[in-house]
Amino acid sequence: MKKPWYHEGLHFGCVQCGRCCTGAPGYVWVTAEEIKRLAKAKGMTPRQFRLEFVVDYGEKMSLAERPNYDCVMLEDGRCSVYDCRPRQCRTFPFWKHNIKNRRAWKRAARECPGVDHGRLYGLEEIRHILEDGGQTDDAAPPESAPDEQRCGDPSP
Ligand code: SF4
Repeated sequence: MKKPWYHEGLHFGCVQCGRCCTGAPGYVWVTAEEIKRLAKAKGMTPRQFRLEFVVDYGEKMSLAERPNYDCVMLEDGRCSVYDCRPRQCRTFPFWKHNIKNRRAWKRAARECPGVDHGRLYGLEEIRHILEDGGQTDDAAPPESAPDEQRCGDPSP
């Protein structure tokens, strides 16, 4: 089987600049389990959190945006729920459309200062992220993702 172009791995390290949480309008898909964790991080009930911060799109749910399209979780230029951020955010930039080829990866690097910096993600790790899949074009984190562990029990 042909090796993917990133077979030697890719570097990434989020510097929490908040750039990906601003800019053009978009969606941050969240699941009910993620809403529980986010609500807990905010000291709210899942119901309160949903009413205040979540928008329904058919059967899907997204974090809301402010009028300037900032993610509603962004505070003082930083993610206020970083340790518990949803899968879509945790798996960035290892999304299918970002790694489909070198040019797409370089395009992502122009938007995100963490791309091509930070630690090396090996091929197997990247495959694992992609294979686990995501709600959209994103991917799930490895089972051992430390950010998930720091979020604690998601029960309300
Ligand atoms: S743009 Fe990149 S470095 Fe900045 S917060 Fe988003 S993922 Fe992290």
